Amino acid sequence: MLNYNLSYWERETFFKDIDLAIIGSGIVGLAAAIHAKTTNPNLQVAILERGTLPIGASTRNAGFACFGSMTELLDDLSRMTEDDVLALVEQRWRGLHLLRSMVGDQNMDFEMLGGYELFTDDEESAFQECLERMPDFNQKMAAITGVNDTYQPVDERLPSFGFHGVRHLILNRSEGQVHTGKMMKKLLELAHAKGVRIFNGIGIRSIADTKNGVQLETDFGWQLHAPKVLVAVNGFAKRLLPNLDVIPARNQVLITQKIPNLAVKGCFHYDRGYYYFRNIDGRILLGGGRFLAFEEETTDQFGSNEMIRSALAQLLHTVICPEQKPAIDSWWSGILGLGPIKKPIIEHVSSNVVVSVRLSGMGVAIGSLVGKSGADLVLG
Ligand SMILES: Cc1cc2nc3c(=O)[nH]c(=O)nc-3n(C[C@H](O)[C@H](O)[C@H](O)COP(=O)(O)OP(=O)(O)OC[C@H]3O[C@@H](n4cnc5c(N)ncnc54)[C@H](O)[C@@H]3O)c2cc1C
Repeated sequence: MLNYNLSYWERETFFKDIDLAIIGSGIVGLAAAIHAKTTNPNLQVAILERGTLPIGASTRNAGFACFGSMTELLDDLSRMTEDDVLALVEQRWRGLHLLRSMVGDQNMDFEMLGGYELFTDDEESAFQECLERMPDFNQKMAAITGVNDTYQPVDERLPSFGFHGVRHLILNRSEGQVHTGKMMKKLLELAHAKGVRIFNGIGIRSIADTKNGVQLETDFGWQLHAPKVLVAVNGFAKRLLPNLDVIPARNQVLITQKIPNLAVKGCFHYDRGYYYFRNIDGRILLGGGRFLAFEEETTDQFGSNEMIRSALAQLLHTVICPEQKPAIDSWWSGILGLGPIKKPIIEHVSSNVVVSVRLSGMGVAIGSLVGKSGADLVLG
């Protein structure tokens, strides 16, 4: 790591008069910056991002624009009150609309292809429970989204997908998908166009309150000062603020080579959502399986896990594309921020520092809202 001081010129230009410093340039940090500059164009907003790109979850996710499959919501109901679960669904739905209005559907290839939940022979009772709860869920979803019959059993579509060992399918008509890379590129462009100063390659090592604001110590050893700071580092939050209840969680993802005449289109949730896959550019993107090596994957370090990767490859070749058995083009990992319940933390940690973290694997949906709320809170 380089160790140096800022020159007078650097200090008096690039880092001068910052009103709001945002740590992290994922969906949350960028949405916060764009919102802050939109509501107050004179505000000097700087983003400090340690990666050459925003390297966490926002450029590494699956791009599901989703607000909950039936088994996911049933699972949430076992941990949270119904009011809280429905509030979260509404937050995801509103967040998706905010994201779409900011970025524009055409700029991130937004498509409403639907989301499907797959049920195997062993999951008959889970499927029956979903069928029983479906009328009630549909009524509650309609009150939030305005869409009737959100969830529908669609077993008749199974033959066209060509899955192996799948007995039932439930469709979520209102689930969409985005091109994650294009979405993030557009958010970066919007932030630049608004005059947000984005500094890549600056990691923040510590945050300290001062008499008139906040001092940020960079990994290079020099300090920055800003009256207000928003921390938007999601799964990496504990490194900066050890008392925050955020657990890092690594996810492994693969993408196949192009598959001729790929019939699989939409977002798919397998094994209660522990695995997820979708079509993109004539390929399959597949991820998940973290529970197979729970402790090893509870980390904020990127890296591979061969056991999980071989489980994903097997799922691809035996269940998802058993006929084509497509070759795998490449792998990557990404870092989520989780907690005991699926609720983001948007709060003051001191009078001039706010955190907007713990997106719980829903950041495409709620990231823009979480960023906006964090910016509003810190700017008071
Ligand atoms: C594999 C995978 C699949 C997913 N699939 C979906 C999906 O389909 N749908 C969905 O809604 N959500 C999904 N998610 C979750 C979603 O991507 C996240 O919730 C969202 O991107 C979080 O955004 P963020 O801005 O809070 O965090 P991040 O995108 O992680 O951004 C945090 C940024 O902070 C930077 N940073 C960290 N520490 C420091 C520091 N000390 N100093 C400076 N910078 C720092 C990091 O480099 C990073 O760029 C998925 C996540 C993963 C990993």
